Amino acid sequence: RQALYAELRDVEPFTRCGTRIEVMINAGLRDDISALPLVGADGIGLFRTEFQFLVSATLPQRERQFRLYRDVLDAAGDRPVIFRTVDIGGDKALPYLRESEFENDENPAMGWRALRLALEREGLLKVQARALLEAAAGRALYVMFPMVSEPWEFDAAKAVFDNQLAHLRRKKKLLPESIRYGAMLEVPALAEVLDQLLPRIAFLSVGTNDLTQFLFAADRANPKLAERYDWLSPAILRFLRRVSLATAGSGVALGVCGEMGGRRLEALALLGLGFRRLSITPVSVGPIKELVRQVDLRELEKAMQGWLSAPPPDMRAAITAWASERGIDTD
Ligand code: PEP
Ligand code: MG
Repeated sequence: RQALYAELRDVEPFTRCGTRIEVMINAGLRDDISALPLVGADGIGLFRTEFQFLVSATLPQRERQFRLYRDVLDAAGDRPVIFRTVDIGGDKALPYLRESEFENDENPAMGWRALRLALEREGLLKVQARALLEAAAGRALYVMFPMVSEPWEFDAAKAVFDNQLAHLRRKKKLLPESIRYGAMLEVPALAEVLDQLLPRIAFLSVGTNDLTQFLFAADRANPKLAERYDWLSPAILRFLRRVSLATAGSGVALGVCGEMGGRRLEALALLGLGFRRLSITPVSVGPIKELVRQVDLRELEKAMQGWLSAPPPDMRAAITAWASERGIDTD
C-alpha cells in the first residue's frame, strides 16, 4: 500500500469519469509544510493560524506572525495556502488573554471564540491581517474566516483587511498579487443565508468537525458521544447536499476541511454529494487519491440521490456494499 501511495504522489487525482478532484492538506505548524511535496497535495486547504498562538507563552507579535506566514508561502511555492484567521477562545483560551473575559463561557464551543472574539479584539485581527498581507507581497493570498454565523461578520472581518491593505498602499508597499476571501461553514445558521453570503466570497469550506457538533448538539470533545452520531447519517448528508446544491453554479469553490474528508467511505459520500475539494490530514492524501481514481461520479451521484430520498436503515453499510460491489476499497 505504501508503495502505491508513493507512486500516486505525482499523479493528479482524476475520477474514472475524468473530473479533477482537489486534494489539499490541513496544517498549522511550520513543520507540517514539509508534508506538502512529500504527499503530493494540491496545496494547504486549511492553515490553522491559532497553533502559533497556542504554543507561544505570549501573544505572537506581528513580526513573528509575518515570518511564519512567509515561510509557509515560500515552502508551498506555487501551491495555494488558505490561511484561516485565529480560531481561539472558548476551550482554546490563551493564558495571556485575560481569564475574566471567558468567565461567562459555560459552553466554550458555542462561546466567545474565533471570529466573535477577533471582531471585538480588533487589534488582534488587525495585526494578523497586516502580517498576512505583508507576507504575501507579490503573491496570491487566500484568507478564510472561522465560525462565520451571519454574513455581516464576514463583511466586518474583511473590512479589517481592506483597511490594512489601504494603509500598505498609501505607504507604497508591495501588495499581494491577488487576495481571495472565504468563509468556513461550521454554524448551521449560515447555511440558511448562503444566498446572501455567496456573492461576497470566493470559496466556502465546510468544517464538519464543528458543524456536526452543532447539528446534533453533541460536544465533539466528549468521549461518551464520540461514537454516537455518524457522519454518514441522513441528517448530515442531507444538510451537506443542500449546501452543495445552493453553491453549485455560483462560482464559489466548495470544499470540506473537517476530519470527515480524510476517511475513505466518508470521502466517497462527499464526492457523491458534489464536493470536489477535500482538505485532509497529510497521511490520508495517498488513500484518498487512490479512492478518487476508482470512482465514476455519475453513478455515485445517482446512488446518493437514492440513499437520501429513502435512507437505508444503515447508511454506512449501504455505501460500503455499493463500493465493494464495484471493487472500491473503502477501509
Ligand atoms: C472543523 O470544525 O471542521 C474544522 C476544520 O476546524 P477545527 O477542527 O480547527 O475546529
Ligand atoms: Mg472548527
